[in-house]
Amino acid sequence: MQTIPANQLLAGLTLAEPVTIRAVVTDSRKVEPGCVFVCFPGERVDGHDYAAGAYRSGAEYIVANHPVEGVPADRTVIVPDSGKAMIRMASNYRMLFNPRMIGVTGSVGKTTTKEFCYAVLSAFGKTLKTEGNQNNDIGVPNTLFRLTNDTEYAVVEMGMDHAGEIERLTRCARPSAGIITMIGVSHLENLGTRENILKAKLEICTGLPDGAPLALNADNDLLPTASIPSRLRPVWFGIDAANADVRAVDVVTGANGTTFKIIDTQYGTFDAAIPTAGIHTVYDALAAYAAATRLGLDAARCAAALATYRTTGMRQHIVEKGGITFIEDCYNASPDSMKAALSVLKALPNARKIALLGDMLELGGASEEGHRHTGEWAADAGVDALIAYGPRSAAMAEAAKARGVAAVHCQTAEEVLQYVRQFVRPGDAVLVKASHSMGLEQLLQEYYKEL
Ligand code: ATP
Ligand code: MG
Repeated sequence: MQTIPANQLLAGLTLAEPVTIRAVVTDSRKVEPGCVFVCFPGERVDGHDYAAGAYRSGAEYIVANHPVEGVPADRTVIVPDSGKAMIRMASNYRMLFNPRMIGVTGSVGKTTTKEFCYAVLSAFGKTLKTEGNQNNDIGVPNTLFRLTNDTEYAVVEMGMDHAGEIERLTRCARPSAGIITMIGVSHLENLGTRENILKAKLEICTGLPDGAPLALNADNDLLPTASIPSRLRPVWFGIDAANADVRAVDVVTGANGTTFKIIDTQYGTFDAAIPTAGIHTVYDALAAYAAATRLGLDAARCAAALATYRTTGMRQHIVEKGGITFIEDCYNASPDSMKAALSVLKALPNARKIALLGDMLELGGASEEGHRHTGEWAADAGVDALIAYGPRSAAMAEAAKARGVAAVHCQTAEEVLQYVRQFVRPGDAVLVKASHSMGLEQLLQEYYKEL
């Protein structure tokens, strides 16, 4: 963060003393002199408990939901909602800079697309990106606070659980271009219908300036039905849709990467190669290409830069241990991404393929159906065995069994490990995927020790 006068940063929150702020901090361990410390009333730890300590360590202001002992009243900014206060400060700070910024939202593929945008934008200049998956009321401000005078480009991931959240984030970040990766079924629990999910993602439009490009997935079943404000410039990307503005053809995907041709109605045809497996990542790459080129960046360089994409976290990472190929994808899961991951497993050259799939959370009324479909897709992908883990995955195992797959259902991690030891042997390919909280990442690490 660059230094900023407190009254500018905190504008709209309080009449501030004319001091200079050098950081906005929410984690008490990161408090430094000259910072603003924002207290969040968390579930396990309450930031207010650390406010007095932060003040003693040199914080200029404490943003809190109530007065805090040990912090003078004139150094306490009382706000009803810490998240909104973060957004307000980030928005004030963001106004000082003028990077070309891409905002990314969608049901799945945001982080992957964000990393593709980063790969492309960094070919042109200094680029700021969302670290990891920090895509909420804290993460988006934290990203924006890292803007500096020499930031030329930025890519910001925006996530949501509820209606209204994307609007808040996009109005704060004010991207110059937007991307909606796809509309799936994630967060159906909170939003009720897929049409509501579509509406919530379209909130990204409210933060885009007139004439801004908005890259949209032309192959999604819902997005083409959306009414896009006429003041924006939609750019449709896809593989199947013949009328897409940016289309991938001749897609060849394997364990080590994917190649395709980009046919762009505006700029011509380019060869592209990306180091990821699976058709779904082609969409993420196309989205990044579409947004960046419509911001005026050279199309040939954008296409070439897709090759510099790097994966992050346990997001579809193909590794080899003890002669076994693992597709580690324990970061999160939804029916859409299960289907995508199973297609990657299917494309691997290994003779035997095993799917270790666990519960997908937050699917609401679509949970049963989502798990059942995943079992059917596992069968369609030709898996030799399915180990389904967690209470919701009983439906998955049943559906796979009904289609002739050797499927077992496990209630505990210990049971899962037993089956893995029993089924898996060198030469196999194993897809490991579930919602993050199912703990498959830890289970896998434990199993690796045995190999
Ligand atoms: P989150 O909501 O957790 O932030 P996200 O939208 O950032 O998720 P990613 O982390 O990029 O999504 O990917 C999540 C999963 O979806 C991974 O398994 C990934 O391989 C898969 N995936 C990525 N892009 C797509 C896509 N376009 N369509 C379907 N699945 C995808
Ligand atoms: Mg993400």
